Amino acid sequence: MGQIRTNPEKIIKKTLFDLPEVIPAELAKIYQEQDETLLKNPGKQECKASVKCSDGKTRTFKFYKSTLENDSKEVAGIVGIMLDITELEQRHLELHEKNKQLEALSITDSLTGVFNRRKFDDIFPGNLMIARRNNYILNFALLDIDNFKLYNDAYGHVEGDNVLKSIAIVLQARLLRPDDYVFRLGGEEFGLLFYSNDEVSALKLADSIRSDIQNTEIKQINSNECNKVTISMGLITIKYQFDDIKFIYAEADRLMYQAKESGKNRVISKLL
Ligand code: GH3
Ligand code: MG
Ligand code: MG
Repeated sequence: MGQIRTNPEKIIKKTLFDLPEVIPAELAKIYQEQDETLLKNPGKQECKASVKCSDGKTRTFKFYKSTLENDSKEVAGIVGIMLDITELEQRHLELHEKNKQLEALSITDSLTGVFNRRKFDDIFPGNLMIARRNNYILNFALLDIDNFKLYNDAYGHVEGDNVLKSIAIVLQARLLRPDDYVFRLGGEEFGLLFYSNDEVSALKLADSIRSDIQNTEIKQINSNECNKVTISMGLITIKYQFDDIKFIYAEADRLMYQAKESGKNRVISKLL
């Protein structure tokens, strides 16, 4: 805590307006108005202010004031203390900053930097509600890397991790609106949430993302086209006020596996 080093003689019998070097006139006026308010409404008063101290530094103080009564129960004056809360405020700010960082970490996938399943579980219901209330079309896509086990077996886990990072970059580059979301939902599985004008434009976007991933520079087993890293996707366009989250997820999953069974590297979509 800071120390007030003003010599007592300097302030005894002085008014707020007699110490312009430590209390600027405009501050003195504010303090006086607060005192007058307290005198008119006897009781307690708390306030916070920045004060330039005698050492020239500006510090933050909390003022606790209370009216005093004489024997006849009349207001006779004000007593108060000032508490230097500069460091306390600084610690609060730091704590707030740390909490924000922790919160961000708790919803982020550490490998790819996209949102994690926790964030997905947190926001999917709210987004469905917004879509229903406003007649918006919300899309949920589930995508899974094709033949990823083979890729890992050929190049090792570290290269496999790099593929996951590259795919996350492609997804984020295509979903740029503030209400677009990319999630890593499991090992090699990603989820997308985005609004669209209709089911046709949603499918167009989904398929162009699929093709972007196919065309991304990723280390390949050989130059054979079928060894490119690709994804299969199940896309659900939610148009008709549908709100059964479990069903939506299960349907997207089913479509994704249908895409795998139909030859992989494709999007299969459905309107709900
Ligand atoms: P499919 O086309 O049917 O999806 O075949 P697949 O080989 O991709 O699927 P499978 O489920 O057989 O294997 C998934 C592979 O994904 C196996 C696992 O090692 C890999 N994988 C999952 N999570 C990670 C990860 O975090 N890093 C890496 N490098 N590989 C992962
Ligand atoms: Mg999988
Ligand atoms: Mg896979």
